[in-house]
Amino acid sequence: MRFDLAIVGGGSAGALLAARLSEDPARQVVLIEAGGEPTDPDILNPQMWPLIQHRDYDWDYRTTPQPGLAGRSLSWARGRGLGGSSMLHALGHFRGCREDFATWEEATGDPRWSWEGLLPAFLAIEDHTLGGDGIHGKGGPMPVWLPGDEVSPLARAFIEAGAGLGLKRLNGHNTGEMIGVTPNSLMIRHGRRVTTAEAWLTPAVRARASLTILTGTLVTSLTLRGSRVTGLETSAGRVEADQIILSAGALESPALLMRSGIGREEVLAAAGVPCHLAVPQLGQNLMDHLLGAGNLYAAKRMVAPSRLQHSESMTYMRAEGFTATGQPEIVVGCGVAPITSEMFDRPAPGTAYSLLFGVTHPTSRGEIRITGPSPADPLVIEPRYLSTGNDRRLFREALKAAREIGARPELDAWRDHEILPGPVYTDADRDAFIARAAITHHHPSGTCRMGRDAGAVTTPDLRLNGIDNLAVVDASVLPALTAGPIHAAVLAIAETFARGVIETA
Ligand SMILES: Cc1cc2nc3c(=O)[nH]c(=O)nc-3n(C[C@H](O)[C@H](O)[C@H](O)COP(=O)(O)OP(=O)(O)OC[C@H]3O[C@@H](n4cnc5c(N)ncnc54)[C@H](O)[C@@H]3O)c2cc1C
Repeated sequence: MRFDLAIVGGGSAGALLAARLSEDPARQVVLIEAGGEPTDPDILNPQMWPLIQHRDYDWDYRTTPQPGLAGRSLSWARGRGLGGSSMLHALGHFRGCREDFATWEEATGDPRWSWEGLLPAFLAIEDHTLGGDGIHGKGGPMPVWLPGDEVSPLARAFIEAGAGLGLKRLNGHNTGEMIGVTPNSLMIRHGRRVTTAEAWLTPAVRARASLTILTGTLVTSLTLRGSRVTGLETSAGRVEADQIILSAGALESPALLMRSGIGREEVLAAAGVPCHLAVPQLGQNLMDHLLGAGNLYAAKRMVAPSRLQHSESMTYMRAEGFTATGQPEIVVGCGVAPITSEMFDRPAPGTAYSLLFGVTHPTSRGEIRITGPSPADPLVIEPRYLSTGNDRRLFREALKAAREIGARPELDAWRDHEILPGPVYTDADRDAFIARAAITHHHPSGTCRMGRDAGAVTTPDLRLNGIDNLAVVDASVLPALTAGPIHAAVLAIAETFARGVIETA
């Protein structure tokens, strides 16, 4: 099979790219996805999101035991099927703040990755409740819903508590300014999850003669000659294409490159893979957000289950005080349920609630490595969580902010008493609690980071350095985390890349 363009991975970025790049009837595009079509009805129910992990459409990874997390190893869900991790995610749509993208522009020297540069892509993607105001998109493929009265009364009290401390009231997190209180914006339409496959791979798109979709097809390696990819080896045979885009996600895109002989020489040698191209930082720079789960409270009255996705309102702020402005450093979220890590007893639903807390721009960096040439050889995932003093200090500040909000009079009607962390007197006590309480916020990224420096894995055009016809377009290329969840930014990267291809055709 021969195509003009092959996209590996039909997840969040890949589904969008397949739709946009097959608009031109003259370009033959193949989208190759390891998993199948999502059929489980639970995917559509927003409240089910924490319960649908470990099913057959989850790659179901685990990290190595983490010294920063009291030796715990975390489960990392990743979607396997059309829609990718948008089948599993917690539905929050957070673009990031202006300063986040100033960091991206600085890292790449490319104004396309600034807030202003990305704004046309965000606008094109979204069909937002507030759409048409010049800031939020209207009529795009992905619904973004900013709930009003549908937010739980507990989350409303949480928002009032933050406002009582001087935090600004925001209308959603997507204006470039994130410090303040607001309900979360959600990728939900008429009460249902919308995956990127549903949003972009519509029946009309699938009917195009220019698009071939291969599901249940695992790409096992790239074949390389000099500085070109000549083809893809897949579980269903060989596929050839002039241009290749990897959208297999922050774990599988670098892993596929490593299995094909591209990467850090010592990693390839240890895995028994001959090195074709040494790229020392490939698989490095692994980033993720953690959330402390949680600052737990026994409730004075029944906490009705969330009608949304459980953590209904995230409040971003600076560590030095509730009225400080700029780029957020910490976050406190309202969990409308007793959310805890596996290290603590979880009270019965309805009897307790959790304030989640975390650091927006952790400086800890990890890595992923292959252990052998086959996709069946397990990946080593080593995030090195909380390995910097900066991250441990800011996590303590985030816990402090959660407890200050949790103790506010606006929450008196809900709070019976604090259950966790319980008595903590010293920084060492707080660190020990955080190490046991933290869970992943599910944002692995950065393993093929884009940049203008010599060590960057991908160029500001998302081309893999050293290979002429290969781009990486997914969460791997983030040069730095955005303050909040990263899905919207991944979509904006894909849309911006697609525009570049379409304009230069
Ligand atoms: C449980 C969970 C909750 C989350 N909550 C949120 C949230 O509320 N808000 C938010 O912004 N973000 C959230 N995220 C993060 C967000 O979903 C991801 O960052 C985003 O979906 C990543 O997109 P991607 O295109 O990089 O990868 P994916 O969407 O993971 O797509 C990769 C695709 O490639 C396929 N693939 C991989 N390897 C191969 C191969 N060798 N051959 C063929 N196909 C392959 C995979 O099956 C998959 O379909 C969450 C993630 C999870 C898992």
